[in-house]
Amino acid sequence: MADKRDYYEVLGVDKGADDSTIKKAYRKLAKKYHPDTNPGNTEAEAKFKEASEAYSVLSDADKRRQYDQFGHDAFQNGGAGGAGFDFNFNDMGDIFGDIFGDFFGGGSRRRNSNAPMKGSNIKVGIRLTFEEAVFGCEKDIEVSIKDECKTCGGSGAKSGTSPVTCTKCNGQGRIVYTQQTIFGVTQQAQTCPECKGTGKVIKEKCVDCRGTGYISSRKKIRVTVPAGIDERQSIKISGKGEPGKNGGPRGDLLVEVAVMRHPIFGRQKYDLYSTSPISFAQAAIGGDIKIKTIDGDVLFNIKPGTQTDTRIRLKGKGVPSLKNKTLRGDHYVTLVVEVPEKLNEAQIEALKAFDEAMGGTLLEKTNEATQTAPKPEEHKENKAEKKNKKKSLKDIFS
Ligand SMILES: [Zn+2]
Ligand SMILES: [Zn+2]
Repeated sequence: MADKRDYYEVLGVDKGADDSTIKKAYRKLAKKYHPDTNPGNTEAEAKFKEASEAYSVLSDADKRRQYDQFGHDAFQNGGAGGAGFDFNFNDMGDIFGDIFGDFFGGGSRRRNSNAPMKGSNIKVGIRLTFEEAVFGCEKDIEVSIKDECKTCGGSGAKSGTSPVTCTKCNGQGRIVYTQQTIFGVTQQAQTCPECKGTGKVIKEKCVDCRGTGYISSRKKIRVTVPAGIDERQSIKISGKGEPGKNGGPRGDLLVEVAVMRHPIFGRQKYDLYSTSPISFAQAAIGGDIKIKTIDGDVLFNIKPGTQTDTRIRLKGKGVPSLKNKTLRGDHYVTLVVEVPEKLNEAQIEALKAFDEAMGGTLLEKTNEATQTAPKPEEHKENKAEKKNKKKSLKDIFS
């Protein structure tokens, strides 16, 4: 946390600035960077939080004194007997009410729980075939989506009634309690457990939504899967998440992708990998061979004398880039020369003739084996000889 900016610097005020100067400076920054006026702008949100944190300290005489004396250390990790100042955005209710009271039209502490809030995101998963992930596709998925209950207009209260002010928190949505610490008395706020921070309690629940204010229904949503998507990546569908609160926008639907394996192709980012068998004749003579690619079979010309495990590159036969699907990775193919496992008489003769033409590498197998095999009844075998025997027998029968 050493890179934390100085609170005075954050607000752009002098060390000796008085309360009203600090307040004015914060107001200006807060208006500029408030999340409601910069939806989705994370940089603005970070600036807003930074300014809010600075203000929450400098506007409090006790905290300011601690900060002037110890700097940020005054509030780090609860160092001094747990008196750490753990900045929590949700505990800013007082400050918001104070600062924003007039331009958000809200009353003091209730500002926090009644402010427009974006709904939560919903996460779902989909399974794609290998090809669907490579080339993209459209998928219909069913998602359970909440909508405001039409019967009660989202209040959750039975028609003809309305929610009443929570008596536990007097409608503030939070309960503040004080604590004696080494730095003096600090205040901590907790969301009211009775009304869950809304400040209101429903006495008679709406029968349709059972007091929740929302009705869930299964909805079909078409997901456009972009070409090139990979395992565990997500597609964001804006505005299909949970409904917002107090008129805030809906959250988003995040669709996480799981990709099935392919029997032939492997993938690494935008490149594909496979092995392709070639016959000895193809390898030796060269020429066009057929190779399976994600686009179908292609012909590739190999040179005479191609060795096994030779890797060839098919440029642009890989996976389209997520950013630009006309750019594609490559497909690397390892060529494996196959040795036939079963030969008929004619094939064996042909191979023998070929071998002879090559100078003759085939030996009379049976003769060699009989020479090395010891006669069993000649003498007692020691361990080494036993091993030897096993080996030579293996030679005979393999
Ligand atoms: Zn309802
Ligand atoms: Zn309450």
